[in-house]
Amino acid sequence: MSASQAVASSHVMNTYGRVNIALSHGQGVRVWDTGGREYLDALSGIAVNTLGHNHPRLVPALQEQIGKIIHSSNYYHVPGQEQLAAKLVELSGLSNAFFCNSGLEANEAALKLARKLGNDRGYRDPKVVVCEHAFHGRSIATLSATGNPKIHAGFYPLLGGFIRVPLNDFEGLLRAVENESEVAAVFFEVIQGEGGIHPARMEYLKQVRALCDERDWLMMVDEVQCGMGRTGKWFAHQWAGIRPDVMALAKGLASGVPVGAVVAGPKAANIFQPGNHGTTFGGNPLAMRAAVETIRIIEEDRLLENAQRVGAHLHQRLREHLGHLPGFVEIRGEGLMLGVELDRPCGALIQQAADAGLLISVTADRVVRLLPALIFTEADADELVQRLAPVIEAFLATPN
Ligand SMILES: *Cc1c(COP(=O)(O)O)cnc(C)c1O
Repeated sequence: MSASQAVASSHVMNTYGRVNIALSHGQGVRVWDTGGREYLDALSGIAVNTLGHNHPRLVPALQEQIGKIIHSSNYYHVPGQEQLAAKLVELSGLSNAFFCNSGLEANEAALKLARKLGNDRGYRDPKVVVCEHAFHGRSIATLSATGNPKIHAGFYPLLGGFIRVPLNDFEGLLRAVENESEVAAVFFEVIQGEGGIHPARMEYLKQVRALCDERDWLMMVDEVQCGMGRTGKWFAHQWAGIRPDVMALAKGLASGVPVGAVVAGPKAANIFQPGNHGTTFGGNPLAMRAAVETIRIIEEDRLLENAQRVGAHLHQRLREHLGHLPGFVEIRGEGLMLGVELDRPCGALIQQAADAGLLISVTADRVVRLLPALIFTEADADELVQRLAPVIEAFLATPN
């Protein structure tokens, strides 16, 4: 059965514009479709498969865990939660973690922390400052926090309580909160992912940190996509030498097993009391084991250094091969989170790259997004560029 036949008879809700491929299995940074065709995976399931596919140390650990216990419930203590929380605290310098199952859930928890702080302070209408072009998820609260009208469309009324500002405009932020006395938090991605790989500037991060200290607001960062080593540091905000009060993690945290986490520093760690928040699946022993092993392997194999080195190499190769093309705008990002902006909508490149044996994505209409696994090598990066550059060149040469 071909993929298009599968679509014609599908009982799956029609929520995605999908590439006409179904993947059957993977090994390292390569995947094969159900027809046996091989692809170089430069997307990693959207920054999820941190260690690539079928990792020789992750898979046996998961198999062992499945044979012991998959789920036990938060009625009981879960030793894996203690282990993972201690590890995340060590890596971030923050103090406590809550575990859930996805990015939007981690962000939902962050937004609830801000609301609860506001309620505890007696605010009648607590506000959270969020950014234009942000993406925080698809629940009603997180889509309301999201700065993309396409994601709002059809779901009005949005949740209130958000003040929206442009990223990297500190004066604009100050103006937007001039007459606000009930701000509880500022919440933004350190590198906007779905918005087109737009990094927050180091100076801006420091200014927001200082402002949040001065006014006693929570500085909350969504590192669902840019966290967990992708940029060459554990967390992207660490490039600025600052610490947020709340950080949301998910995508790459457990190398493919669904998990989310909200990690809080002293200002936010004790806002939730028993009964304020919870989840059935969140923090289950399988997900905790997957995250603990993922972090262990990142450390043992020095994958942060790898992401930094291979990312810089990839960035340079992309510039060499694409920089001179009419229609090329710029390359943005850090480590293995890179975006190549073109001067026109380029969604067609997803299928064209797949036809050339390469999995990529296009976001914000014009940005080719590359999110390879942290095990990517320089040779993999060279191969990526060999496959991608001719596809982009041909695309830009075709009159639109
Ligand atoms: C993907 C993403 C989310 C949503 O994560 P889900 O697991 O799909 O709910 C939130 N924030 C950012 C920055 C993301 O990239």
